[in-house]
Amino acid sequence: MARYTAAVCKQCRREGQKLFLKGEKCYSAKCPYTHREYAPGQHGQGRKKSSEYGIQLRAKQKTRRYYGVLESQFRKYFEMAARQQGMTGENLLKILESRLDNVVYRLGLAHSRAMARQLVRHGHFTVNGIKTDIPSFLVKEGDVVAVTENTSKNDNLKAVFEANSARPVPMWLDADKTNMTAKVIRMPERDEIDLDVAVNLIVELYSK
Ligand code: SF4
Repeated sequence: MARYTAAVCKQCRREGQKLFLKGEKCYSAKCPYTHREYAPGQHGQGRKKSSEYGIQLRAKQKTRRYYGVLESQFRKYFEMAARQQGMTGENLLKILESRLDNVVYRLGLAHSRAMARQLVRHGHFTVNGIKTDIPSFLVKEGDVVAVTENTSKNDNLKAVFEANSARPVPMWLDADKTNMTAKVIRMPERDEIDLDVAVNLIVELYSK
């Protein structure tokens, strides 16, 4: 399976903002972006003026990297969003937000989306009582996501869950932290998704 293998923190520097891809490190003084707020590479501190295409590309890349999705999958999500009713850009964000790995991250069951993705792949979660190890699985209204019984007894993972217990859970998820379950009560609204990106730029880019 294809995956991004280059230095993760360079993605934040490229996009000019913290994308919180590395969990605890992102909140500490070790975050490279706090010391080097410029793009990586020889010309990283050079001219910043971008073309219209460049601005659209950055919006798309930032969104894609935020959710840790590769280009081909991102394009599929865009096509899926375009077929749905409503605004394509907002539909796209809602689809990305409903990925199982993102839901696990939003519930505070992992330090980062990358960690959530790995935990899902290793079979630590169920959806509606069925073990689900596909990070791209899209949850829908009424679904119940839960930690498997074995995982709920794993001390290492319990420590991870505990470390993230203070992170606020979005309103569209009804979390029961005691039993490590959550119900999707509705799909998220745009203003509940904390990604600072103009999604219309992505629509413009893919509509060329
Ligand atoms: Fe981005 Fe986190 Fe790396 Fe900082 S530590 S540059 S926020 S991934």
